[in-house]
Amino acid sequence: MRIRVGHLYPDYLNIYADRGNIAVLRRRAAERGHELVVEAIGIGDPLRAGEHDLLYVGGGQDREQAAIAGDLAGRREQIAEAVDHGAALLAVCGGYQLLGRGYRGRDGSFMPGAGLFPHETVAGETRMIGDVLLECELDPGHARPLAGFENHAGRTLLDQGAQPLGRVVHGFGNDGESGFEGCRVGRALGTYLHGPLLPRNPWLADWLLAQALAHATGNAPLELSPLSDALEAEAFRVAAGRARARGGRR
Ligand code: GLN
Repeated sequence: MRIRVGHLYPDYLNIYADRGNIAVLRRRAAERGHELVVEAIGIGDPLRAGEHDLLYVGGGQDREQAAIAGDLAGRREQIAEAVDHGAALLAVCGGYQLLGRGYRGRDGSFMPGAGLFPHETVAGETRMIGDVLLECELDPGHARPLAGFENHAGRTLLDQGAQPLGRVVHGFGNDGESGFEGCRVGRALGTYLHGPLLPRNPWLADWLLAQALAHATGNAPLELSPLSDALEAEAFRVAAGRARARGGRR
């Protein structure tokens, strides 16, 4: 199968080499005989709902976010329609913030977002930095750990009843208080974890690939054949260990 990926603003939102997530998806798709076709979508480029099985938005600092915020907010309908029709999506940090209703910076300015995720973000006075460990339950009854790294000033407040990506075991998460990290709407996931996220959490890479394949085929998501993930498991072990060494919830 061909898995069509739309990578939004790769030239602006790529802090901590977030595009490494795409490399992981490409490799893990190829190992199962699928081809990942990645289209870069920059400011002003068309985004047609239905043309991508997975959309990807990386992270960036406020300056980079400000450069693309207006363009991204203008894509509200296409993004909502794509996710509504079962496209998968992964948004990291700055991209995650701008897929909510918007981001209020330290100077009081407001960047409007694309409104996919039911949340709003406000910049705080301190940065929330460090290794994070989460527990996620994307498939009911199947809890899995997710390890990553966060570095954000924004506090993201989920609306009442919104579904987080996971529960914080160690780290700050969305706002340092709620105990939640990230957000989920259908097959769309947003998270603060980068660095990048997928190399040390291969189960999440496969979850996203399975959802993207389901969109491409029109079938329900299937379990992908297992790969030998010894290096990935070691990377996870080290990252999770660092998060645990942080102690407490933050
Ligand atoms: N605006 C962001 C913040 O809260 C950007 C963070 C990021 O992508 N690293 O700091």
